Amino acid sequence: MRVLVVGAGVAGLTAARELTARGHDVTVLEASAEVGGKVRRVEVGGVVVDVGAEAMLHRRPEGTALAADLGLEVVHPTRATSKVWTRGALRPLPRSLMGVPLDLDELRAAGVLSDEGVDRATHEDLTAAHHLDHDVSVGDLVSARLGDEVVDRLVEPLLGGVYAGHARQLSALATVPQLLALAARGPLLAASVPRSDAPVFAGLPGGMGRLPEALAAGLDVRTSTTVRSLVRTATGFAVTTGPTTDEQRIEADAVLLATPAAPTARLLAETAPVAATELAEVETASVVVVTLALPQHAVEGLQSSSGFLVPPVDGRAIKASTFSFAKWDWAREAGAEAGLVHVRTSLGRHGEEATLQRDDSELVTLSRRDLRDAVGLDTPPVATHVQRWGGGLPQYAVGHRDRVARIRAAVAEVPRLALAGAAYDGVGIPAVIASAHAAVEALLAGDETPDQTPDQTPAQAPLGTTQG
Ligand SMILES: Cc1cc2nc3c(=O)[nH]c(=O)nc-3n(C[C@H](O)[C@H](O)[C@H](O)COP(=O)(O)OP(=O)(O)OC[C@H]3O[C@@H](n4cnc5c(N)ncnc54)[C@H](O)[C@@H]3O)c2cc1C
Repeated sequence: MRVLVVGAGVAGLTAARELTARGHDVTVLEASAEVGGKVRRVEVGGVVVDVGAEAMLHRRPEGTALAADLGLEVVHPTRATSKVWTRGALRPLPRSLMGVPLDLDELRAAGVLSDEGVDRATHEDLTAAHHLDHDVSVGDLVSARLGDEVVDRLVEPLLGGVYAGHARQLSALATVPQLLALAARGPLLAASVPRSDAPVFAGLPGGMGRLPEALAAGLDVRTSTTVRSLVRTATGFAVTTGPTTDEQRIEADAVLLATPAAPTARLLAETAPVAATELAEVETASVVVVTLALPQHAVEGLQSSSGFLVPPVDGRAIKASTFSFAKWDWAREAGAEAGLVHVRTSLGRHGEEATLQRDDSELVTLSRRDLRDAVGLDTPPVATHVQRWGGGLPQYAVGHRDRVARIRAAVAEVPRLALAGAAYDGVGIPAVIASAHAAVEALLAGDETPDQTPDQTPAQAPLGTTQG
């Protein structure tokens, strides 16, 4: 079968690889000049580092399984821990489930909350149970139970780190379903979430950007090819690419859209209008990643921390910083050859699009100012890089799961059309890989007889929930 995959992010490339392995004739059409989407590496100060996603959840199997399948070594972050920069100091992050404290002694000792905030958290309000029969925002659920400070100083920075969104708008069901389940069972503070020594995250030596690069090798990928429309034909589909003055029409039996919500909505306008309308409602957050390459001596004494998160309530410009040299052995070793270390900051949350409009030098200056105030890092960088991710992260608003079910139902009515990517069932790398596996199954449903399926089908993974 001739299949067009639109979008060469991790979702599109994973789907294309799987379809190719199953004997189909696949072409990937990608708007930008490079593959990888939000997973991308560039050279900063002569050292190649990630400027988008830089880790993947290890506690979900799909990312590490795919890396292994591609022959890529998987590594884990060092034991350096992440901190919270709040109430004027860098403080330890108490054990939590997406910011909901799991250990009261650690919470008290951390100093992240005021005494009143800790006191309120210890008096969990169980009368808020009425929230649990329908989807609710994470922030509303947690503030009703444990008070506003837990939301403002713990849930916001952790949830914001994943979605660049606001806790009081993001769906509990779509982003932290475990929380709803625990809340339904009783007090959150009494929830027994077992401690585990297994690493939470994994990465690739040389950067997560190696994943799409390896996926794309051997695939037919056409970069700088924006798909502008999708229509049904008598036998399948046709897409148009290229400028209006030089339009190209490409036909195929099947189409898999692995593009973000907004372009997917535009492309579905004719073939699946109900899905298009629903997808157009999925908002996104735009974010910026600033990378500083610094002389090694600049970070003396900072090795024990992998970086820090910043609650929005503290009013700083940056929302997080990652000390790549302290978090990843490979990054420290790669930098050492050039006498450098790399530090990242990220800025921008949902609704703060103006952040992206600041010029590069201003974003670097704001990052440096906050790093100086947080950890005393004042040495001028040797090189900098500013990566804007316009519409970088979809926002799973309250009701997102139901919306996705309506989108899937509408698309299922169009044979040989499927959707994958971060807009649906999770934004993390393992989740988008799972969405690609599921989309391939949906696309091929009813088409493949068992003897058409070659032996080397990549391992299937169940469609999981959002990364936690
Ligand atoms: C700054 C940042 C940091 C992140 N950090 C992490 C992390 O550490 N760990 C983690 O697990 N996740 C992280 N994420 C999330 C994760 O990287 C993304 O959700 C995931 O990579 C999305 O993959 P995707 O294939 O669904 O979409 P994308 O990566 O968005 O790929 C979609 C592709 O479609 C292309 N496209 C769009 N329109 C068209 C069109 N009309 N025609 C052709 N092509 C088109 C785009 O150019 C893009 O290449 C991060 C995200 C961001 C923005």
